[in-house]
Amino acid sequence: MQQVRSLCQRIELLSKRIRPVDSLPSEIPVIVRRHAMKTLAVLTSGGDAPGMNAAIRSVVRVGSARGLSLIGIRRGYQGLLDGELAPLGPRDVSNVIQHGGTFLHTSRCDEFKTPAGLRQAKGMLERHHIDGVVLIGGDGTFRGGEELGRVWPGRLIGVPATIDNDVNGTECTIGYDTAVNTAMEAIDKIRDTAESHERSFLVEVMGRHAGYIALGVGIGAGAEEILLPERPCEVRKIYARLGAARARGKTSSLLVVAEGNGPGGAARLAEELKKIGHEEYRVVILGHLQRGGVPTAADRILATKLGAYAVDLFIQGGTGVMAGLVGGELCATAFRDTYSRKKPLDEYLLDRQDELSS
Ligand code: ADP
Repeated sequence: MQQVRSLCQRIELLSKRIRPVDSLPSEIPVIVRRHAMKTLAVLTSGGDAPGMNAAIRSVVRVGSARGLSLIGIRRGYQGLLDGELAPLGPRDVSNVIQHGGTFLHTSRCDEFKTPAGLRQAKGMLERHHIDGVVLIGGDGTFRGGEELGRVWPGRLIGVPATIDNDVNGTECTIGYDTAVNTAMEAIDKIRDTAESHERSFLVEVMGRHAGYIALGVGIGAGAEEILLPERPCEVRKIYARLGAARARGKTSSLLVVAEGNGPGGAARLAEELKKIGHEEYRVVILGHLQRGGVPTAADRILATKLGAYAVDLFIQGGTGVMAGLVGGELCATAFRDTYSRKKPLDEYLLDRQDELSS
């Protein structure tokens, strides 16, 4: 607000045609403010992902450089309902690019899914004279954005950030690369023990409905088996393949299992395998270890690019769209298409798995 007033005063001094904002009748400063400078808010919502801070920084720095007034909304949609808004300037995002998580904090908010919650959000955005909001999150966040767009006429721009990578309209979401690297490094360590003790390990990675993490981790870690929610879990066939691998001279094996695979993740699969072959399978569930950590260079760069592009889209008048990167090209995808269409898995890599684990 202070920034807006001082800008208005500077305009007055330059042009000598308008009076200082403070001396105008109460309704006029709003008009002067809205024409002088657009206000763009930014929030992070849903599951946290490494690189969210880099995305916020990019939105704030690029937006400020283009003459926008930036507002940070804490704790996602919940913070919007609760009025947790504060100005953000370029210095507020110093030294955040290298940190995982999100300094704006994030939340899940059921109230936002109700008509009353959406009305409250609209009221809060109007009260703070906000022209647009950058929504940094996953498919749930964009569902929320779609609903908010029905009741509020401001501009809503999405930036995809979720370790799951389950958002259509971008090849990679912010956080996916870091999560895959974190899980892969953990598996590299587990493999040392698997090899030394000639054992089999089932490592469960995140992915309730989508196998992008499991596929990336499984290929990167050189797993014997990669089990995805999108594919049937044929326990007898898996057991037979493990036996065949032993016959080929493999003394240990590593199976990467998405948490949403088959009858119930790695623990259940280990039980089923034991029932068939009476062998012990060690189970490791990586869990939340995969969500945090220092973002990789790839995630920081992606977050910076998509954050900047979100500002471009806002300035160009876009709304109801998510900034994404497909085939190296920046593109905007309607919120609806980010969650109603399934992004294909890398079929080429999936088809190579048998050969790669031979
Ligand atoms: P992510 O964005 O990581 O997928 P969630 O699925 O938890 O995370 O969604 C984040 C938030 O988005 C939810 O807590 C809720 O506030 C909001 N949201 C999700 N779906 C809807 C919906 N259909 N309508 C309104 N808001 C929604």
